[in-house]
Order: sequence, then C-alpha cells, then structure tokens
Amino acid sequence: SFQELEKILNSIDGRGYKAYKDLKGEYGFGDGVLHIDYVQGDPFASPSRVRVRIPASKAGFPTGAYDTPCRRRATVDFLSRTVARNIYRLYDRVGGSGKSGLLSIGHCGQEIIERNYVVIDKDMVEARLEVGLPAAGRRVLAAEARRLLTEAIPQIAKSSLLFESINQKKLMEQVRLAEDQQFLREEVKSRKLSAFVANGSILPRESGVSQRPMAKGAVPFKSPREYEIEINLPNRGAVRGMGIPEGVTLIVGGGFHGKSTLLQAIELGVYDHLEGDGREYIATRDTAVKIKAENGRSVEKVDISPFISNLPAGQDTVRFSTENASGSTSQAANIMESLEIGTELLLIDEDTSATNFMIRDARMQQLVQKEKEPITPFIDRVRGLYENKGVSTILVIGGSGDYFEVADHVIMMDEYSPRDVTGAAREIVSFASSKRKAEGSSAMGESPRRAILRSSFSLGRKGVKIKPRGTDQILYNNTDIDIRDMEQLVDPNQTSAICFIMEYIMKNIANDKMTLTQVVERVYGEVESKGLDALSPYKGHPGNMALPRKHEIIGVLNRFRDLKIK
Ligand code: ADP
Ligand code: MG
Repeated sequence: SFQELEKILNSIDGRGYKAYKDLKGEYGFGDGVLHIDYVQGDPFASPSRVRVRIPASKAGFPTGAYDTPCRRRATVDFLSRTVARNIYRLYDRVGGSGKSGLLSIGHCGQEIIERNYVVIDKDMVEARLEVGLPAAGRRVLAAEARRLLTEAIPQIAKSSLLFESINQKKLMEQVRLAEDQQFLREEVKSRKLSAFVANGSILPRESGVSQRPMAKGAVPFKSPREYEIEINLPNRGAVRGMGIPEGVTLIVGGGFHGKSTLLQAIELGVYDHLEGDGREYIATRDTAVKIKAENGRSVEKVDISPFISNLPAGQDTVRFSTENASGSTSQAANIMESLEIGTELLLIDEDTSATNFMIRDARMQQLVQKEKEPITPFIDRVRGLYENKGVSTILVIGGSGDYFEVADHVIMMDEYSPRDVTGAAREIVSFASSKRKAEGSSAMGESPRRAILRSSFSLGRKGVKIKPRGTDQILYNNTDIDIRDMEQLVDPNQTSAICFIMEYIMKNIANDKMTLTQVVERVYGEVESKGLDALSPYKGHPGNMALPRKHEIIGVLNRFRDLKIK
C-alpha cells in the first residue's frame, strides 16, 4: 500500500540514488495500484518506468469503447492524450538534478495510431508513465518523490482513467471518427481507387516542422467535377471528394501551386487523423510508399536491374550492393524494396527525385545511345508496373510533358485547386509527339525475396543497444541508421517500436532462411495476436511504442548498414 511506499521513502531519504531501487514493487491506493517496474540507476539515466492500474469496475468504461481493434486503438490514443494533458494541467515539476521530477507518457502527434501507453480491457485500465525520481545531486529527495508518486500520479489517474471524469462525448467522437476513417480506407481499395481526398480538407501544414493544420489562409480542398464521388461513412454519413482511380496519375501545375502539399497529404492518408487535423477524410491505399532519391544510403543485394544495368565498371545490378548509393540507384532500390514487401501505390515527387531516374528525353536519346546509358528511366517502367503488377503511381511533375504519354489521369493544381486536364494533355500528345522512344524493353520479373542473415545483428561489448532518435535516426550499437527520408514514419514511438523489433528479430526470428518479408510478417503476426507489448524485452512497463507499418520496419532494415542478405 501507499503506507509501505512512504515507509520506504522515509528510510532512504538523503541516501545515494541507488537506494531508490528499493521502491521496485506494487502499491495499492484508493482507486487502484501503482506498479514501480524499473528504477533508474542515476538521475541522469533513462527515466524510471511505472504503471498505474485501475480495475474496470471502478474505471467504468462501456465495452463499446474497446470491443473492436479499431475502437480500442482510438480509445487508447484518446486516453493517452488525456493523460498527457492532465500531466500538463495538474502537475508542477519539482526541481532537482538530471531528470528529477519528470513525469510523462508516450508521444502523440496528429495520427491516431495503435499505441501501448494505455491498456484497456474488460478487467482494467492502465497508464504507463515515465518518471524521473527526484534527486539533489545524487541523493534521494524523499518528500518530492512522495508527492510525485503518491499524489500527482493518483490524481492524474483519477482525472484521466475514470470514464466519469473524462470528456465522454469527445471520446465517442474519436472512436466514431477512427471507424469512419478505417471504413473509408477499405472503400478506397474496394472501389479500385488509389486515394480519396474529401472536399473541405485542409492540406497545408503550419510549418515545415509542425504537422498541425495551417492556421490562416488555407484554401480548402475541392474536387474537380470529373473525379468527384460520394462515400457513405457508417457514422458521419456521406462525404464527397476526389477519388483518384488506380493507374498512373500525374499532378502537374506551376511551382508553388500546391502539388507537393497534395502528395504529402496523400502519403499520410495511410494513417487516421485527429478531429480538427484537416486530413480526417483523406484516405490512401494502406500499402502506399513514398519513393525518394536518397543519396548516400546503403543498399544490400537488391535487384535494381529493371532500372539500372550495364554499369561501366561491370558492377552487378541484379544483386546490387553499395555503401553509398547515388540518387538514381537509391531511388531504384527504394522502388524494388517496396515491391518486395508489397505495394499497390508508389508516390513520387519531382522535388525529391533524381532527374536522370525520372526522364530521358528525345534529344538526349539521340545524343547518348541506349547502350551508353545504364538507366532505364521511370517513365519507361511506370505503365508496366501498373499493367503487369497492379502497382499504381501518383507522380508530381511540373517539368516534363513526356509523362503525358504514359498517364491515365492528369490533375493540375491551380492556386491550390485541382482541375482535370487529362483531355488537354491527350490532345497535346496527339498533336505534338515528343519523338521519344520507349526504352523499357523487357518486362519486369518477379521481385526476388531476400533472406536475412543472423550475422546482420552483431553484438557489442555489452550485448546489443538499439536506440531511437526521434523520427530521424536509430543507433544500433555504433552503427547509425539514417531514416530521415522515410516520411511515412511519423511518430518517435514508432521508431522506439522498431528498435524493439530489431532486437526481437535478432533474438527470436532471424534464422538465415527467412526472407525480410517473412520476418516482418512474423513480427506483425505477434503484434496482432499478443499486442505491441509482446515485442518488449522488459517485464512490467514495456516501454512506449506506436505501431509502424510493415513498410517502415522493412525500410529501416534495408537502410541498416550491417544488413546481410544471403
Ligand atoms: P508546389 O509543389 O506546387 O511547388 P507546394 O505544395 O510546395 O507547391 O506549396 C507551396 C506553398 O503553398 C507551401 O508553402 C504550402 O504551405 C502552400 N500551400 C499549399 N497548399 C495550400 C492551400 N491549399 N492553401 C494555402 N496554402 C497552401
Ligand atoms: Mg513541389
């Protein structure tokens, strides 16, 4: 009970920080139980991990808040944000050295993703918190610790985890919104669309570093008549908007007219968004992958031969490896890796593409013969990808009309408003040939499945340490994995989850026989049957995780410089 907890605190007051280890255990209080699962060894070390659990009978949530995976995901997300808000509202951080007085829950951005910061089921509701046990220098500050553990945390739990004390209407709205978004995404697939963007959506963001909606002056999205469809959502009812059909779609238009902004909104349409985000009713095929040029990335035995062959030094491009890829080879590798895990939609922006990967016009074809050009540009593959493999492409391109010949649809952004210009583009093609010769002679074969070797995961002196750094980087022992260009990894706790996943793969899965895809599918199977917690090496508080897509997990592995493929 809390009396025991206080007794321990009194007995260690003023002692060295390690004495806090005595706190490990569980302590009952009026509303529930506080579990102290991990105690940091030092005020500057990673914070301690505690859980506060309230029995379902007391928490009083209706089963409708968590009786389907979608509802549970929405509720957990909502309660996580409620806890975060109440920490901010109710708790004044006490001073001290290092992380003294820190109290936090995992990060929540604009997406409603599966998280493990809160657990809700028929038996209980539980919040997982990180705590910096207070210290003066390296000495225990018992009074401050008591206030944090026995006052602040119970108060936050009471105001966040009891159905009677939260905003019930908002919770139910979020649950219904997530259901609608999930339905919308399924509808996109069954109607053979690549993406849907609702009328009234707000696409631009506040700034390059903020994913919140642009506050002032945003032009709401309005579908061109030619693409406007209506979808009837189970909770909200009808929404109208632009349905982009499968196939090859160009987004054209002058600079600064909103092309990239539209594509970015589509990229993140693989996720559900919060009420008020502006992108609530934008849904994209959930296997969509943004493809960029990523100079300098490593590539391990990827078949990039459909795009690049006959390299001057006679390098192998069927099992292509490099420590330092060029713009075009990295872009080719990104596509081939996406096909390997499986994708139905590629999203490409000229702003972040290698020009020589995208185009090779008639004049250049005359000057530099095909035999002297290792690159088969994307323009010669994009139709085959769709026709033979069912992989659609949405491509932002303002600089080359050669693509008109291979497009099914052309949408022009004009002062942030889309217009259908497919007919005009066709006419231009029929009147003025580009004189370009198609160069993608042979069809693309099956993408090979690459088996991952256990030896990819080497041990350091102290075993393995895999550390997340926001959404930009992972450190595997001393190997730096640069993931900045993976734009569809949106949450730092997705990165944390991938760190755990790498360790999990190393310890439980990798066997030199399974392919990357199989490995990632195994991981996903575990999460589906046992939840995110199953990935954690810890007992009790498992560490904060948000679920990444398979594509981002495999994306990290593919960018891992130690990756070894059989
Ligand atoms: P493009 O790719 O066509 O050059 P961008 O998508 O980069 O253009 O947009 C240019 C600028 O316009 C960006 O600063 C963006 O925030 C802003 N913008 C984009 N769409 C809208 C919109 N619907 N309303 C207001 N501003 C917008
Ligand atoms: Mg742009």
